[in-house]
Amino acid sequence: MHSYLPFIEEILIDEETLQARIEALGAQINADYSHMSDLLLICVLKGGVLFLTDLMRHIHVPHAIDFMAISSYGPGARESSGIVRIDLDLRQNVEGRNLLIVEDIVDTGTTLAYLRRLLLARNPASLRICALLSKPSRRLTDIPIDYVGFEIPDKFVFGYGLDLDELYRNLPFIAAVKPGMYAHS
Ligand code: 5GP
Repeated sequence: MHSYLPFIEEILIDEETLQARIEALGAQINADYSHMSDLLLICVLKGGVLFLTDLMRHIHVPHAIDFMAISSYGPGARESSGIVRIDLDLRQNVEGRNLLIVEDIVDTGTTLAYLRRLLLARNPASLRICALLSKPSRRLTDIPIDYVGFEIPDKFVFGYGLDLDELYRNLPFIAAVKPGMYAHS
């Protein structure tokens, strides 16, 4: 038996549905950026990694990638602390470039609002946001999300880059965790 099975309340988005939507997002991005040069995809670690690598395979506009690590959660906690910290910054200059943030999930919006302000202060030519998942009912900060994979209910989810207490990011689907379950308990 797979060790993650006891934690799953339900599979919210299966692999086929996920991949089809990512392909469609790629097509939309190709159309929107066809006349723009110097596209930089900024992946937010760690949750955005699987999404980035699948999405970029469907983006045919020339582009570079870079990574940032930002946290607003305490270790193991499932509620945003509201305090955002940069754990890893970009290694390149973004001035005058077309930036697309690739994020796993927008929950309260605190993390992305902070990241957006930070990057806009560096004078890019444009800045858009692509999030695989969004929990609109949890939003505390109104931020524009240009590309959304799926809107989901207020449930803690894991798989496909998202962790359950740092585990199970490798699963090819998105699952909702059974309330009260912790991977290390
Ligand atoms: P926000 O600042 O929007 O409240 O939180 C964004 C970050 O919280 C995400 O990038 C992600 O790391 C984490 N997060 C929010 N909701 C979930 C969830 O349902 N599952 C997991 N694994 N992480 C989440």
